[in-house]
Amino acid sequence: MAGEAVLENYVGGVWVRAVAPEALDVPDPSTGARIARVPRSGASDVDAAVAAARAAFPAWRDVPVAERARRVLALRELLEAHAAELVESVVRENGKTADEARGSVRRGIEAVEFAASAPTTMQGAFLEDVSAGVDTTLLRQPLGVVAGITPFNFPVMIPLWMAPLALVCGNAFVLKPSERVPLSAAFLARLIAAAGFPPGTFNLVHGDAAAVDALLTHPGVDAVSFVGSAPTARHVYATAAAHGKRVQALSGAKNHLIVLPDADLERSVPAIVSSAFGQSGERCLAGSVVLAVDPVGDRLVEKLGEAVRALRVGPAADRATAVGPVIRADHRARVLRWIAEGEAGGAEVAARGAPPATEDGYFVAPVLFDRVRPEMSIAQEEIFGPVLAVVRVPSLEEALRLANRSRYGNAAAIFTKDGKAAREFAHRIEAGMVGVNVGVPAPAAYFPFVGWKGSFYGDLHATGRDAVEFYTRKKVVTTRWF
Ligand code: NAD
Repeated sequence: MAGEAVLENYVGGVWVRAVAPEALDVPDPSTGARIARVPRSGASDVDAAVAAARAAFPAWRDVPVAERARRVLALRELLEAHAAELVESVVRENGKTADEARGSVRRGIEAVEFAASAPTTMQGAFLEDVSAGVDTTLLRQPLGVVAGITPFNFPVMIPLWMAPLALVCGNAFVLKPSERVPLSAAFLARLIAAAGFPPGTFNLVHGDAAAVDALLTHPGVDAVSFVGSAPTARHVYATAAAHGKRVQALSGAKNHLIVLPDADLERSVPAIVSSAFGQSGERCLAGSVVLAVDPVGDRLVEKLGEAVRALRVGPAADRATAVGPVIRADHRARVLRWIAEGEAGGAEVAARGAPPATEDGYFVAPVLFDRVRPEMSIAQEEIFGPVLAVVRVPSLEEALRLANRSRYGNAAAIFTKDGKAAREFAHRIEAGMVGVNVGVPAPAAYFPFVGWKGSFYGDLHATGRDAVEFYTRKKVVTTRWF
């Protein structure tokens, strides 16, 4: 039967069966058919991977940084050469359309390109004569063993935010990918091995919460990079920190899009629809609430409604599909409950996308809600599905007040032709990633991915110079020569 074999972990340069006996099915979300089985690795599987990483670390940190960067460049070439297969893997196990998957792989490669600049970004500082005849040197050195724990929604990109940069900084790495998308991670492990990273420098442990908890408490892990939902992020941050580890935990989101009456709706509406419904809304930068500033509401909802009704829902691999499936049946059930709650709470369904032509797969017809009240849960909680709530507001001031009330602060955007209003918005909005006429304001990999408030727990963000700081520790050497 297809997908019968249980995937193996990659530990110390070899593929090994997990000791843990249990395994989970991995279905293709477009069809529901099983495509793989993933082991639920436990403490002893994690222990083996951490031991391999610890053993590899001393020699790896002594490999000159330029040589480490060459391996990253080799990985970049391999990623380019295998980009089509990676895209196919993401389409199949995650349910993104090919265009979305391609974009995410491209963004992952961008992070690899940034990692290759480590001989520059790892540089320290030197100050001569801090006192007479005394000099000070600031060095950046690797931490040791870094664990990366990743979510289902970017099976290639998010592991690539972490592993290449942690490795090029001289660390050894253990990846625990989402158990819902393990195949792309396994593909990446093969490419990383082929790029010439020595055995044990990169390890892959499949599994779910048990494997995560073993990593968070393992004395051999020095730092944890996490991306996932808010409850897990809080758990990871608190547990890893309590066990003395450096930790960055990227969390959930509820992103607001403000539309002013002067916005260019011809161009803003496609950007809003793509932000909210692209990737079936399963993006941490997805627009989730539109704050329509009077009197734009009627015109905006009419145009958004037309666009939503035209969205074709269907299998991810179908070229005509605009909105693929959500990740699992239980997630679809959760999204449908949010939609039912919105309707029961009195929000108007302004438009609903066509249901898919198939009974199989985890599809949700997109929903546009109008006249949502800000206190409704659909305006406050992360839905992570193809649902957009329009809240009508009298002024930019009120829009800012409502957006800033959110406990999340990942992304926010404004649509307007008014530079002064856009500046005011960028200045006052309490979110880390801000778009002006840009619906998905994802920073390029050489900038940090800066969630605020409940969207991030930690000090140093993922990607960009922040990530170099995260994967290194500083040492200050004070020297006097007699
Ligand atoms: P998730 O929290 O369910 O899983 C993330 C990782 O944590 C997985 O590897 C999973 O195995 C592990 N995990 C799950 N439950 C756990 C538990 N109880 N204890 C220990 N480990 C556990 O997240 P997801 O559903 O895979 O991803 C979607 C979420 O991630 C959304 O909330 C989204 O906003 C968020 N996300 C945030 C960013 C960001 O940059 N802030 C980026 C992508 C996704």
